[in-house]
Amino acid sequence: MVLYRPVVCQQCSSEYCTNRNSRCPHCLEVLVMAHRYIYYVMNTNVISDGDYDKLEAQARAVLPDTSPVHGVGSSLADSYTTEQVNKAYFILNLQKE
Ligand SMILES: [Zn+2]
Repeated sequence: MVLYRPVVCQQCSSEYCTNRNSRCPHCLEVLVMAHRYIYYVMNTNVISDGDYDKLEAQARAVLPDTSPVHGVGSSLADSYTTEQVNKAYFILNLQKE
């Protein structure tokens, strides 16, 4: 069994594993992108559409137009960063416990 460590934010240094209330924009961006990776690349999901929409709206409100959260999700694995993919695996791992 592979253990995925909590992802530590590159900007605020917090472990933003499941913290959806983070005020750090980078945490929110990675969280949204991780959920897109789970949905579009892995073809599964771990939160409801309603919860995802709220999370995405929260991220879009605080991130600049250049952030990928303002775009649409992609099914191409290489359009996600390593940090985002690690986060996706970490979230999935939590669901299995
Ligand atoms: Zn952060």
